[in-house]
Amino acid sequence: MGKASRDKRDIYYRKAKEEGWRARSAFKLLQIDEEFNIFEGVKRVVDLCAAPGSWSQVLSRRLYLPSKLSPDVREGECPLIVAIDLQPMAPIEGVIQVQGDITNARTAEVVIRHFDGCKADLVVCDGAPDVTGLHDMDEFVQSQLILAGLTIVSHVLKVGGKYITKIFRGKDTSLLYTQLKLFFPVVTFAKPKSSRNSSIEAFAVCENYSPPPGFDPKDLHRLLEKVGSPSGMDDQDCSSGWLEGPNKVYIPFLACGDLSGYDSDRSYPLPKAADGGTYKSLDPVQAPIAPPYKRALELKKASCHGIQDLQGLAQDPQT
Ligand code: SAM
Repeated sequence: MGKASRDKRDIYYRKAKEEGWRARSAFKLLQIDEEFNIFEGVKRVVDLCAAPGSWSQVLSRRLYLPSKLSPDVREGECPLIVAIDLQPMAPIEGVIQVQGDITNARTAEVVIRHFDGCKADLVVCDGAPDVTGLHDMDEFVQSQLILAGLTIVSHVLKVGGKYITKIFRGKDTSLLYTQLKLFFPVVTFAKPKSSRNSSIEAFAVCENYSPPPGFDPKDLHRLLEKVGSPSGMDDQDCSSGWLEGPNKVYIPFLACGDLSGYDSDRSYPLPKAADGGTYKSLDPVQAPIAPPYKRALELKKASCHGIQDLQGLAQDPQT
């Protein structure tokens, strides 16, 4: 698909470029905020799985920059934003970047160090594995990322804080909801208007972090497994079927963002160029600096040029 054609078919892709966002995902976080007011009073925030950085840009523009420009906020008192991703990303003002894996427990220690031992008011996670198209598989891998996010949350989020995480709706959604409810009395699944209806993506908005009394983050997985087994027994057959019938949970599900605003599943005509000429598509705001597909492109290029030692090239991570 050419850039102009994508501009026509994906209004949020076009708007992201016009407004200077690195990715159309920025609108999802903004629309979640419209509904849930997630930024109110936030002084420390963690952006998990942040690259290429449009959510971090939202955090910078909504939290850091207004404080920096305010005469009432002293130097060193601006909100702290820590962003983590496996991939490096281009710098964003007011955002501390950490290149790391959120499934590694040590990542939480790095965040805590940046916050000088204080806890975060908000953790957001837009993490997604490379989608295979096999829904069960994608949903499973996604749930592992959510649980990794929850592990970090259990170390870095203050009591009363919020956690926003991407989910994939599927057969285990009720189980995931019940697991999140162990820690947050208020959990809503939200579908921002900028997230396509055709996508199984939604976002869990978890409010008022309240871990169970005496909770030790070391026990997180044992606790979650208990929810996944009938009657909370560890050693019985674990299936989410028990969440059906009389045990069925009803999940609050909310569409958010201006419902009369742009529809992500619709095509919109392209605007006329200001000089009356043909429409010119804008370039993306920031190309990824080390995308995972870079190696594939290099290998393809090498094979086109007839380079024989493809195996050597594939094995050398620096190439
Ligand atoms: N919120 C981002 C934005 O607005 O620009 C987009 C995030 S993108 C949909 C998903 C990101 O998850 C990718 O950059 C990927 O590298 C990251 N990711 C996937 N698994 C991860 C892991 N285990 N640890 C850290 N990042 C991970």
